[in-house]
Amino acid sequence: MEVAVLNVLVLNAGSSSLKFQLIQIAHESQERLCRGEVEHFGNDAFKRILDETKNAGEIDAVGHRVVHGGERFSESVAIDDEVLKQIEECVDLAPLHNPASVAGIRAARTFFGPDKPQVAVFDTAFHHTLPQHAYLYAIPYRLYESYRIRRYGFHGTSHRYVAQRYRKLRNVPVEQTNIISLHLGNGCSAAAIRAGKSIDTSMGMTPLEGLVMGTRSGDLDPAVVAFIAEKEHLSAHDVEKLLNTESGLLGVSGRSSDMRNLAQHRDDARAQLAIEMFCYRVRKYIGAYLGAMGGADAIVFTGGIGENSPEIRARICDGLQFAGLTIDTGKNNTNDPPDRQISTDASTLAAYCIRTDEELLIAQDTLRCIMARNGTDEQLRGRL
Ligand code: ADP
Repeated sequence: MEVAVLNVLVLNAGSSSLKFQLIQIAHESQERLCRGEVEHFGNDAFKRILDETKNAGEIDAVGHRVVHGGERFSESVAIDDEVLKQIEECVDLAPLHNPASVAGIRAARTFFGPDKPQVAVFDTAFHHTLPQHAYLYAIPYRLYESYRIRRYGFHGTSHRYVAQRYRKLRNVPVEQTNIISLHLGNGCSAAAIRAGKSIDTSMGMTPLEGLVMGTRSGDLDPAVVAFIAEKEHLSAHDVEKLLNTESGLLGVSGRSSDMRNLAQHRDDARAQLAIEMFCYRVRKYIGAYLGAMGGADAIVFTGGIGENSPEIRARICDGLQFAGLTIDTGKNNTNDPPDRQISTDASTLAAYCIRTDEELLIAQDTLRCIMARNGTDEQLRGRL
């Protein structure tokens, strides 16, 4: 049987730009052919993408990152009219994020035509395994029934990738994948992964909840929202915006949302306070998830901060010796290899550093969804 090899164009539509990668994907192998970013989407953007990818290879299929899949999407799906309609229905839950995803899908469908297979991969899907006691908020149940107000969680593709990679590095089966995954980038979230499945995560109905982030507050007393609204003469919507865009590292430091920038200002007390709050919140979540999971085998750092800052990793872990975790300073301070254990061998709770690769997982899911829809590899090759 001929083995399916697909060139997948992976698209990540943000509010003002479209990031792309062309990845050649087969069952057991992958190769990144090219990557880039274009402004806006529409015909011109796709013409530029075609231009930039044409020397790298043909585009066989398109994989889209979609932020919110609501309760409907528990896994990646091939996009048809019905699926697109259901993704649009999730806009209500993610008004800041899903419109860009929908616009990206629509533009790609118009540009490439209905015969080019397209697949949607959701940030929320990996967290569909959360039990009800973890995903419900303790508010009147009817509000969940009426509006589907609940924890969905995000960064699911990153947490899922990290869990898979951890499994390979440690050579353990999925049932023994018991980790706390920490995605620390501009947006930050923690996931409690037991037996390979997400059982809790720090982001909520929107990405605002949980850890301290670049510009997001993360957790706070919900009464603060009405209090700020009253004092500052703001609408609820304005306060939400303030918590999303003027808070977190930026809000506390008054200087920057960028961790690297803050770390360089050692004599700026507020910058250092912001970093301390950031690390403390992560450490608190690790403690909470150790309780939620009944213990874990490892914590895993990923995302721009998690992958690149030995200092932040060490500060987060400092104080977790009681749980059996001691950082190996030598391993923590190098970047080589990029995916590695950074705790001492004697630690009973290990720590790892893993470079996330959401695009690769989107490309793999795209191949899998198309195979599932089209049947055998030969049929697939014939169609494309
Ligand atoms: P996004 O969530 O937008 O994908 P990234 O995952 O790239 O963002 O993370 C961006 C964050 O990573 C920024 O706060 C940046 O300062 C931080 N970062 C990158 N490299 C380092 C480093 N060497 N030390 C500390 N922080 C770093």
